[in-house]
Amino acid sequence: MANNSAITPARRLSEKLPSPLKRLADLAYNYWWSWSGDRISLFQTIDSQEWERCGHNPVAILESASYERLTQLAEDPFYLKQISALAREFDQYINQQDTWVSRVAPQVSASRPIAYFCAEFGIHESLPVYSGGLGILAGDHLKSSSDLGVPLVGVGLLYRQGYFRQRLNRQGWQEDYYIDNPFQQMPLELIKNEQGEAVTIELQVRQRVVKVQIWRVQVGRVTLYLLDSDRNDNDPIDRWLTGHLYGGNLETRIAQEVVLGIGGVRALHALGIEPSVYHLNEGHAAFCTLEIARLEIERTGKSFYDIEAKVRNSCVFTTHTPVPAGHDVFSPDLIDSFFASYWPQLRLSREQFLALGARRLGDPWEPFGMTVLALRMSRACNGVSELHGQVSRKMWTVLYPQRSEDKVPIGYITNGVHAPTWTAPLLGDLYNEYLGEDWKNRAVDPKMWAKVDDIPDEELWSRHLILKERLIAFTRYKVKKSRELRGENYELIQATESLLNPNVLTIGFARRFSPYKRGDLILRDAQRALKIFGNPQRPVQIIFAGKAHPADEEGKRIIQRLMEWCHNSGIINRVAFIEDYDIYTGQKLVQGVDVWLNNPRRPLEASGTSGQKVCFNGGLNCSVLDGWWCEGYQAGPDGKGINGWAIGEDAHTSDQELQDGIDSRSLYQLLEEEIVPLYYDQDAQGIPHRWVQMMKTSIKTNAPLFNTDRMIADYVSQVYVPEISKSVEPILAKVLL
Ligand SMILES: *Cc1c(COP(=O)(O)O)cnc(C)c1O
Repeated sequence: MANNSAITPARRLSEKLPSPLKRLADLAYNYWWSWSGDRISLFQTIDSQEWERCGHNPVAILESASYERLTQLAEDPFYLKQISALAREFDQYINQQDTWVSRVAPQVSASRPIAYFCAEFGIHESLPVYSGGLGILAGDHLKSSSDLGVPLVGVGLLYRQGYFRQRLNRQGWQEDYYIDNPFQQMPLELIKNEQGEAVTIELQVRQRVVKVQIWRVQVGRVTLYLLDSDRNDNDPIDRWLTGHLYGGNLETRIAQEVVLGIGGVRALHALGIEPSVYHLNEGHAAFCTLEIARLEIERTGKSFYDIEAKVRNSCVFTTHTPVPAGHDVFSPDLIDSFFASYWPQLRLSREQFLALGARRLGDPWEPFGMTVLALRMSRACNGVSELHGQVSRKMWTVLYPQRSEDKVPIGYITNGVHAPTWTAPLLGDLYNEYLGEDWKNRAVDPKMWAKVDDIPDEELWSRHLILKERLIAFTRYKVKKSRELRGENYELIQATESLLNPNVLTIGFARRFSPYKRGDLILRDAQRALKIFGNPQRPVQIIFAGKAHPADEEGKRIIQRLMEWCHNSGIINRVAFIEDYDIYTGQKLVQGVDVWLNNPRRPLEASGTSGQKVCFNGGLNCSVLDGWWCEGYQAGPDGKGINGWAIGEDAHTSDQELQDGIDSRSLYQLLEEEIVPLYYDQDAQGIPHRWVQMMKTSIKTNAPLFNTDRMIADYVSQVYVPEISKSVEPILAKVLL
């Protein structure tokens, strides 16, 4: 059992702080601060250079600040007021009893929480244990669960070096490198027992027993437990089990999934946590169903098939991958080497065990699929958008031969984003004024969002312009630093001073550089693109960011083509690439762009969430009708978009070349005929009233739907506690204009 009376790292930190600043330690050890309205200045004020150097890590900045600097702050009444107001807000938040869940589902109690398993969590840039969309979604899931009072705990891995970092060389080729995470100086707490030793669990991985320790991260009211095998009593190879996110080969992958799934259940057990529901977010965690079964067999002495239904009743599964190749599968050989001593504990034969992950039975070469296991062992399964639900049902009919496609038991809950995290504080401030101080608690209320109509055009536009300037300054700064590090010539480094222009229509494109996302689609007809971007009267500019997976050569080539384009003399000031995309860069981008571009090959984008973030900040989406945008986009009677634009409309072909042609021409046409003219239709004060109208329409129609409060309410009422689905009013219906 964990010992709660021991001195916590937050206590230890607070003891080093001058007394008026002591509450900063509590704030630093709970990521709640990162979605509070004070997040920009709270820690940065201490030392803005150090703040950047330590990756916005609040514990590190407080640890490194000199006592002289801290006492300087302690005599600043303005700063002290800020801290005490924020600490009061924090205390109220943490102690709040009257939450959404306490009202609609009082039967969900903290003593039987929901355990949410995921291979990555993207909570803040200072905790780099995420790679992209899946992790950010998981982070937002925790934050909204906390806001709504859902008793939920997260379970994941604490990667010593996280996901790879990206740097581009002078040839525009991506180079990968890693940075060590200094766990001791991060907002983490190692869980210890009465003797002050780390609580550990043991796991058989390959031929060895591995000890895994557990760290705690506080995300508002929600606790996230992260497993870590980097202990000196482990074999050196096993210490690297939790070294890298999505690194290594298939063997690393299965080993990590054993730690996450089996280790995760053991860790909860060791901590005395008895979940009421296990939520497997993506197939990586599917082995947890086996460990739940093993514990139950150990407890009852029954057979696997006797307790299978009970296990299934406690597990739910969300799938995220619309292509068969994207699902983890392991060869029977690999399964043998990891599970030969495990299946006897489930009282299963090898064949019976392999059958749990087999798409088709009876084939000895049939690989073991994590999604198959998760689908078999969960009582509820869902995709992450309406279209993705459809695609998933079709893809998995093979598992349900007796059912027609539409009866395949995979539903959908469309993803959302955590509004307080992704809305720029400057706009949040405007929402405070026009929508009400409690706008963050009413993100699902369409009537509240309708009040954006009350915001005068000038006010919305001027704040948007400030955020766009901020994005441009940030981009110049990042590009300049990259060019310096790369040893580019002096002229090129100096040229960053005039890179991009706040008065120019600005497009953002940031996402993983997977070929299906077609990061270079906009270059397909280079001449036509050059005309659009280089138009002297009505120019356009674009900012790119994103990583290609280290093993993805085609993705790296796409980045290289973009970098070449950045240096094209005709539009040298109109194209920029920000290296090493992370949550911070993501926030700057979604908060500052005019237009967010998304052009995946349909239907390969399961949901996508970055475009949703843009909506909360008044940006407009221009996207292929895929993922969430199928549900968000609305056209007027003339067939033109009223809250954004749809690329390619409904023309679909399986010929990729042909489709790329159709979609790129549609994109050019949208830019030339709709987007550019609308943006530059400005009055004498430079305000594009029709554009601002569209910003407001986008906020009104999208914000109440595509936020994680709505998503969590759906998970609670449809998946976690389906008994209440009839009594809970659907949180909202689509807002049609
Ligand atoms: C939101 C976000 C993503 C996911 O965006 P998609 O739209 O799914 O591509 C990835 N990375 C970061 C840093 C993000 O903030």
